Amino acid sequence: MIINSMKSILFLKIPLWAIFISLLLPASILAKTTDDIRNHQDRQIKEWIVIGAGPAGIAVVGKLLDANIGPMNIGWIDPMFKVGDLGTKWYPVSSNTKVDLFLKFLNASHAFNYKNCPTDFKLNHLPDDSTCLLKYVVDPLQWVTNQLKQKVHSFKTTATKLKYSNNIWEVETKNGIMLAKNVVLAIGSEPLTLPLSGPKIIPIENVVNLDLLKKSCTKEDTVAVFGSSHTAIIALYNLTSVGAKIINFYRSPLKYAVYYDDWILYDNTGLKGYSAEWAKKNIDEKLLPNIERVHINDKRFKELFAKCNKVVYAVGFKRRDSIQVPNHDGLKYDENTGVIAPGLFGIGFAFPKGKSDKVGNYEYDVGLWKFMTHLENVLPLWFHNSSNLGHSNKEYSINLSVDNNINN
Ligand SMILES: Cc1cc2nc3c(=O)[nH]c(=O)nc-3n(C[C@H](O)[C@H](O)[C@H](O)COP(=O)(O)OP(=O)(O)OC[C@H]3O[C@@H](n4cnc5c(N)ncnc54)[C@H](O)[C@@H]3O)c2cc1C
Repeated sequence: MIINSMKSILFLKIPLWAIFISLLLPASILAKTTDDIRNHQDRQIKEWIVIGAGPAGIAVVGKLLDANIGPMNIGWIDPMFKVGDLGTKWYPVSSNTKVDLFLKFLNASHAFNYKNCPTDFKLNHLPDDSTCLLKYVVDPLQWVTNQLKQKVHSFKTTATKLKYSNNIWEVETKNGIMLAKNVVLAIGSEPLTLPLSGPKIIPIENVVNLDLLKKSCTKEDTVAVFGSSHTAIIALYNLTSVGAKIINFYRSPLKYAVYYDDWILYDNTGLKGYSAEWAKKNIDEKLLPNIERVHINDKRFKELFAKCNKVVYAVGFKRRDSIQVPNHDGLKYDENTGVIAPGLFGIGFAFPKGKSDKVGNYEYDVGLWKFMTHLENVLPLWFHNSSNLGHSNKEYSINLSVDNNINN
């Protein structure tokens, strides 16, 4: 038998050194080759490539399928397919949006197939009008991701560079190159920091996760927390529960969302849910004894900051710069439509819709349901603005039947 297999190896002309090396490689590395773009596709041009599999990327893939784009005409790239930062970093956080909006998101795409999900997730049984831990929406979103991943051409890798020529986008990844007529960037954002030296930084993903925080912070620590947003308040209550002393440096006073019948004042910037309740009680009504609040322009700033041995920067987020796109001016995008360039679009936390509310405050729309409704509005424009101008949905359905023959 051994001789027979040696014969077949020789017949296939596979070099023996390659066989030897493959025997030494762990299964996980070998498995990765199934995600190798070169093995799959040999430069077949996709209609659409979606980069990022957080909530925004999930919404785009679902809505492209709903619009009859052939599954094999959609490429989907993410290094993990674990529901983005929501699934990997923010899951322990109490949400600032209500359960009914998460359910609306999950039911907004036919391709999500959520109504036929065999698992009855906890989210389905929470009161519609309450907020919840984000992990309760991550679980169903992971189920949706797994469904979609099997339908479209998914690649577990990171896109590194985009180039545009002859109406085609070349997407360079760590595993090879893919080509597409249209690319959607749903790459998310990362926390900003301030250029101050001294205390050790506690990353936001650690401060929002009590288990991780307990490993890096104790009651002996004095922690500077910059900011007064939702994330800053989560930092304050988690640090309070580990018993740390906190100096909260703020620029603006706490701001709460105000609910009117048909709109919300400070919808994206005001505190909501548990963070709002906690802040009202423990900061505005009676400041907790372990917290000192200091305006950043206070003349004692330097002296007080020097007392801190750790620091949390909850001062906002900036678009992830994981992809180089030469000649595209820092990925400037139209804040109404998400259009970056012909056939290049942005959505989600990295490219949110900008809008003025009823009283003229300009805000960025961030949140799952907002991504979904924005997408529903802009997708027809994207089809029109596609780098392959003139394609109608009808033509896309014709492509579907042709491309379905390609093996996944
Ligand atoms: C603390 C906190 C609490 C929040 N709470 C809520 C809430 O209660 N309700 C709500 O609706 N929203 C909430 N949000 C806002 C928002 O919905 C989430 O931040 C959400 O994760 C954003 O989704 P996204 O898909 O845009 O980005 P992400 O979730 O960050 O996903 C981006 C994905 O793109 C991938 N990616 C990035 N670069 C590349 C590349 N070059 N190649 C391939 N893949 C790449 C990443 O690996 C990631 O998987 C919260 C945000 C924060 C920070």
